[in-house]
Amino acid sequence: MIEASKLTEEFGCLVFNDKVMRERLPKDIYKAVHKTIERGTHLELDVANCVAATMKEWAVENGATHFTHWFQPMTGLTAEKHDSFISPTDNGGVIMEFSGKELVKGEPDASSFPSGGLRATFEARGYTAWDPSSPAFIKDGSLYIPTAFCSYGGEALDKKTPLLRSMEALSKEAVKMLHLLGESDVKRVNTTIGSEQEYFLIDKDYYKKRKDLLFTGRTLIGAPPTKGQEMEDHYFGVIKPKVSAYMHDLDEELWKLGIPAKTKHNEVAPSQHELAPVFETANVAVDHNQLTMEVMKKVADKHNYACLLHEKPFEGINGSGKHNNWSICTDTGINLLDPGKTPGENIPFLVFLMAVIAAVDDYAPILRLSVASAGNDHRLGGNEAPPAIISIFVGDELAGLLKSVEQGETYQSLGKVQMVMGATVLPHFTKDNTDRNRTSPFAFTGNKFEFRMPGSAVSVANANIVLNTAVAEEIARLYEKLEKAGAAGSKDAIFEVLREELEAHKRILFNGNGYTDEWVKEAEKRGLPNLKSLPDAMPYWISDSSVELFTKHGIFTKEELESRYEILLENYSKSIHIESLTMQEMVRKDLTEGIISYEKDLSKEIIQKKSVLEGAECFLESGILRELEENSGKMCKALLKLSEDTKTAEEKTDALEVANYYQKTVLADMDEVRKYADAAEAIIPDKYLSYPTYGQMLFSLR
Ligand code: ADP
Ligand code: MG
Repeated sequence: MIEASKLTEEFGCLVFNDKVMRERLPKDIYKAVHKTIERGTHLELDVANCVAATMKEWAVENGATHFTHWFQPMTGLTAEKHDSFISPTDNGGVIMEFSGKELVKGEPDASSFPSGGLRATFEARGYTAWDPSSPAFIKDGSLYIPTAFCSYGGEALDKKTPLLRSMEALSKEAVKMLHLLGESDVKRVNTTIGSEQEYFLIDKDYYKKRKDLLFTGRTLIGAPPTKGQEMEDHYFGVIKPKVSAYMHDLDEELWKLGIPAKTKHNEVAPSQHELAPVFETANVAVDHNQLTMEVMKKVADKHNYACLLHEKPFEGINGSGKHNNWSICTDTGINLLDPGKTPGENIPFLVFLMAVIAAVDDYAPILRLSVASAGNDHRLGGNEAPPAIISIFVGDELAGLLKSVEQGETYQSLGKVQMVMGATVLPHFTKDNTDRNRTSPFAFTGNKFEFRMPGSAVSVANANIVLNTAVAEEIARLYEKLEKAGAAGSKDAIFEVLREELEAHKRILFNGNGYTDEWVKEAEKRGLPNLKSLPDAMPYWISDSSVELFTKHGIFTKEELESRYEILLENYSKSIHIESLTMQEMVRKDLTEGIISYEKDLSKEIIQKKSVLEGAECFLESGILRELEENSGKMCKALLKLSEDTKTAEEKTDALEVANYYQKTVLADMDEVRKYADAAEAIIPDKYLSYPTYGQMLFSLR
């Protein structure tokens, strides 16, 4: 347990961070590593050798016997393969060794990771390459080295490689633009991310009794509890003692790993919570979010909880997301999305804001796709988290600012408004310039954008790869336009370009309620895409505009895009396939057993009652029996259809066709089965069920 007074010392105690490097590395080596991290320059082998030796020494002192290259293949999970530091000596002993080569490059067998047809299965070789910009750390007795993962031919097989590429592309275009706008001392621009993570906690013993949670991460059947989230009594509510102990433990484990966990609170749904870290450089933030999810599960296990990260673990109850707070910051310390005191005159801010607006408008389909998964499809478009239609919320202040740009007027700021709360004892403070809009998928929140569509279970790498690249492209496009208009010396020319851009892209701006049917109609009128499911959106990934965007900026080759297309579709179909099989088994075995034993008891009861009480009508018992019987007949029919359609799906081969079939037919079949399964569950008493109900799972935590 970390004492509060020791926190500043203990934070990051398991991380080979800048402080450790400065203390332990020779000055010139430290400088070389720093240059690589800051500027993205190449690292020489002698430097790597020295870093490796120092890293090993530090790791062994901290209890590590092994090292592993840690990477993020297309499974969406992290991967690791551990080697010990030991090396045999002539006299039969061992020494602990770790070379620069071992640090820089690994050679895991890549054949069993998804490649989407990028290489034949027999072409096994893959490489992992050290990413010095994300610090190594110690976990469970091993030194973890964050790495990028590629095939023998150099194609990216992971999420880190394209993310790093996209950060560089954005930096390159932004620096060029800033130089044009007169900010000539900027050399690099960093993408920053803070990803708020939502999750559910349920009792571990309950979790183990549900095949659906074990195999698919979400419940496939389950009658709604008599109380849901309608009382709105969980959001920001008092954290229960046991949950609080879990959160405390989680914070500590994260802090040791250098993850700046900052905020924790109860979320909207019962048993749902959130953790938000302080923002970091995109690539480190993505690594840290992967680690956070892992540590959340591990610590939950210790506290006899199961941590559910699925986007929609419970039907009818709010799902979980991962709000991606995103901004861009120069190496001179300017947050380019900070409006400052006089936003109307802050030209870099206006230009970068315009680039983001244009990017979200022009690339909405692939942005939507960047967060698509079988799990997240249940969330987007349901009346809770952001709708599947992408729009931007800018708030009153920015809306006013943009209007003045559009009309060529000088901007009059709304000014700071004093908050008066009507009791003199309360302090006075100034109000924020914008209220919040929880329904917007992409919202300006003061000095950053919050992309609210990412799902809770998947890496935020994808969302940021697309966002960075799309914004890089718009900056490049604006650069050309501005240069042609002679923007370097003329404010008027810049404002004229901004006006044109706004005219072209204002359809994406929407400050109203994104949950309403009116918005769906209005969005359609504006020509904004409403891509409700992954298969709907998928073709955009390999469209001409997408291929052009990603190849132009060196993020993905056409082949890499196609491989990701295959992987995503396959993953989607496989997820639903497993769900279908799991549902069939749970209904046929577990639920049916419950129904039958209750029916048996009811029948026995009727017979017995009639034998004691001549002429007894047994209205209640036979009424229930009849209801169950009728429902079972329909459930059986629906189950049969699900089973047949799932078999049909297995026979199809074209990836998009298969995914579409799962989406349109199998998911619909599952809804039908669920309707009757839930009706049965609502009738039979809990004790007849071999698995816990929604009510038990959601309201049992202390
Ligand atoms: P809010 O409560 O309005 O969402 P917070 O200040 O609590 O705003 O921030 C939410 C998340 O946004 C946190 O993870 C925070 O670190 C992150 N964040 C703040 N500033 C930035 C920034 N410049 N770039 C990226 N993320 C940021
Ligand atoms: Mg937020």
